[in-house]
Amino acid sequence: MDRTIQKEVVVIGSGMAGLMATVVLQELGKDVTLLANGMGSLAHFSGTVDLLGSEEFMSPWSGIGNLRDTERQHPYTSVTDEEISKALEIYQEVLGKYGIEYVTLGSNVFLPTAIGTRKPSYLVPKTMLPQGKDYTVVDFTQFRDWKGSLIHKGLREHYHGLELCSIELPHVKSLTLDAVSLARYFEKAEWRKEFISILRKQKLKGSLLMPAVLGIRGHEEIVAELEAALGHQVIEVPTLPPSAPGRRVYEAFMQRLKPNIEILYNNRVLGIEEGLKLRVSRPGRQWCYGAKSVIWAGGGLLGGGLVPAKDGLRDTVLGITITEGWQAGSQPIKGLYIAGSQLGYYDWPLEKSGAGVALSTGYKAAMLAGGGYYE
Ligand SMILES: Cc1cc2nc3c(=O)[nH]c(=O)nc-3n(C[C@H](O)[C@H](O)[C@H](O)COP(=O)(O)OP(=O)(O)OC[C@H]3O[C@@H](n4cnc5c(N)ncnc54)[C@H](O)[C@@H]3O)c2cc1C
Repeated sequence: MDRTIQKEVVVIGSGMAGLMATVVLQELGKDVTLLANGMGSLAHFSGTVDLLGSEEFMSPWSGIGNLRDTERQHPYTSVTDEEISKALEIYQEVLGKYGIEYVTLGSNVFLPTAIGTRKPSYLVPKTMLPQGKDYTVVDFTQFRDWKGSLIHKGLREHYHGLELCSIELPHVKSLTLDAVSLARYFEKAEWRKEFISILRKQKLKGSLLMPAVLGIRGHEEIVAELEAALGHQVIEVPTLPPSAPGRRVYEAFMQRLKPNIEILYNNRVLGIEEGLKLRVSRPGRQWCYGAKSVIWAGGGLLGGGLVPAKDGLRDTVLGITITEGWQAGSQPIKGLYIAGSQLGYYDWPLEKSGAGVALSTGYKAAMLAGGGYYE
């Protein structure tokens, strides 16, 4: 083992919770090091920030209030409404600087999905917000992860007079193309011209529902160009992973952090010991870091921070077995704060709270670790 390198604050995990925590620490003026090891769930993230969603209520805030009364271990019991709002504000600002406007109507909105259903979400990219009353689903014949007829069939009852049109994408031969690869086609101006001329020949009505593949960099400009050329509003609908909207979020945070934050890529933490000593593996060698505070945002079962064990879940870094994830506010080692989907006692796919919990607990952990006040 090599010598110990001393750091002030170390964030482990470059998913949504770890990235949010690092931005907050950056703003607090802390000397922060991010141990990044891939995009985590952002590779799947559909792009809309769910706080809490249900058919029964439109305001996630009242739902969160009820949860705090009934489910005392839920991660939202560890954050106030003000802290959640602040985390969302920072998220909007980071994405806004990257060129992606996120909007909220103050309550949940129901958004179309790629399987022809609708799901509630709270803070959504402007380019995903359905507006108007007439819609056309645009099918891309060579894109396997977007079945126009399925979407059309499912959404007909919600969007009356919903039309379907099908086009062949220019120069795309492979049926194995994924969403991120297709997004790269949309970044090419010449290719877009051909795409537009093909679509112009179609009978189009109202707003156009297209898969969320409309570029990564320069996404909003691409959508604006399509809308101006076609004379129709264009609405992105999240499709299967790998996710173009998730990649935009990752790039937006990295763009914000890179100029003045130490980001160490491909670093995997093997263990943390008392006194906040971290054993870290990088390709080819092992290191030992010491820190005054650590934020552990390893992402639970999907991110790799937890693995199933005989009698619960084992934390892959602390080596401790817990029942169903960490309870918010736990500090298994002094100075170690846990955030994001490492936390248990909530069911984000069911209650639609994934990004809401990741962002707000990432924010809270950073405020505690940084001991600061975010203006
Ligand atoms: C298909 C899908 C679609 C989704 N869509 C939505 C949506 O539309 N809206 C919404 O609100 N939520 C959505 N979610 C949920 C949301 O994406 C997650 O809840 C959230 O991103 C979790 O963030 P996290 O930072 O806690 O974990 P993760 O994103 O999993 O990040 C964990 C990070 O920790 C790293 N890590 C783990 N172990 C170590 C280690 N030992 N050393 C170093 N690094 C380590 C991982 O590599 C990763 O970088 C979706 C999830 C999925 C799977």
